[in-house]
Amino acid sequence: MRLLHFLVLLLGLAATQAMAWGNHTLASYRAFERMPEVANASSVTAEPLEAFLRAEENTIEALLASQEAWALANLESYPEQPVELAFHADPARTDEARRQAFLMALRVAPNSRFALYIQPDPRNPVGGANLPNSVVNTLAELPGPAHRFLALKPGEQVSALAVLATATDEPDYGLDVYLWEDSPSTWGKLYGFGAQPFGNPAIAYASQAPFHMAFLHENRLVYLAAPFVKRSFVLLRSQQYTTLSALAFRTGHAYWGWRFAGLSLHYLQNLTQPYHASLAPDHSSLRLLGAQTLAKTGLYGMRNELLVLRANRRMVLQKLQTELLLRDAANRQEGAMEKALHNIERDKSYPDWSDRYLREVVSLQACNAAAPLAQTLVAAMPAALVSDPGLDFGARDTAISLLGELGRSDNPEHARLESAIAELMLNLGAHSRNALRGILRAGDPQ
Ligand SMILES: [Zn+2]
Repeated sequence: MRLLHFLVLLLGLAATQAMAWGNHTLASYRAFERMPEVANASSVTAEPLEAFLRAEENTIEALLASQEAWALANLESYPEQPVELAFHADPARTDEARRQAFLMALRVAPNSRFALYIQPDPRNPVGGANLPNSVVNTLAELPGPAHRFLALKPGEQVSALAVLATATDEPDYGLDVYLWEDSPSTWGKLYGFGAQPFGNPAIAYASQAPFHMAFLHENRLVYLAAPFVKRSFVLLRSQQYTTLSALAFRTGHAYWGWRFAGLSLHYLQNLTQPYHASLAPDHSSLRLLGAQTLAKTGLYGMRNELLVLRANRRMVLQKLQTELLLRDAANRQEGAMEKALHNIERDKSYPDWSDRYLREVVSLQACNAAAPLAQTLVAAMPAALVSDPGLDFGARDTAISLLGELGRSDNPEHARLESAIAELMLNLGAHSRNALRGILRAGDPQ
């Protein structure tokens, strides 16, 4: 079916840019620094993953079994965990063997670093030698120019906020890379996730996309034409780390409580990004079908234009959000983005956290925001950046200052775009805090 072919292309292109927000940590510092549960939390003791796993082997065995039962009952298109990957306590094995067994039971990349480190807050610059990227991240490139890693020693005291905010960026450091049957990895063949549903299986970054974006509210036609659109595992990851966090808090491992909470929030925050939650924010499914019909008659222009424009607009949005947040941090006064992230009042307007919250609240809201946001973006940014199908924005990304572009003219749409992005930050902050409240409730030992 031709629509299918088009969706494969569209998703393939989306997958090569699997990062939702430039640096989650930056936004998370602001979202949590005034939340009493985090701001007033005692500092915690950095604990190596091996030590946590050794101490809690039995409770982890029970938890991972219950995660599997939950996933089978609640997730659509969920491929069950191969029985040989199930986690069984074995106090006699080595730390390294236990760590491998744990990561493979979660079905994350077994070479994931899980190093002890923090990403410092750009708002409060600190000295110290930077850790090389490879200590923290299995992907070759530093995730972005705004990233800096500092080492923690086992036993060192660290603030809950730093652990939590740091971990919200970590799933982009190779945890979900090459997990598929057709991946160039040894573990992908063992994991039972099947072939990669979209994106180029040879590119590390693209291979993580089905764990970092989810299209949960598309037109029925789309699902009929391309059932693979449903094969994404964002909700799985959220559930795994959410319940691990609660377990760690309950059993007195606060460091891992905050760290697993941060890991789980990465996936939630991804779904607040309209381009990670909606297949075609700029166009209705009907327009997609129209473009595809033309392509069938040999007129590929419209279809290819839609693909390039989606990619460029998505990257412009992400880059502008990063620049706005860094501008606020550099000015050292509460700017529009920080104000939105600090706004704790909005939290109460949403239902309480539950395991349906990501789908029914976060992702639905992002989908509904997608079309108006795309219109605002197009009206506010220079056509050369967001409406020129001849531009490869990704290739020129770092050379362009979008704030500079905004400053160049006094288009009244600029203010509207800034407030649309602030609104997205408001959602990111509110949903992140609501999820954390749910985790802390579940992690309360009482
Ligand atoms: Zn991500």
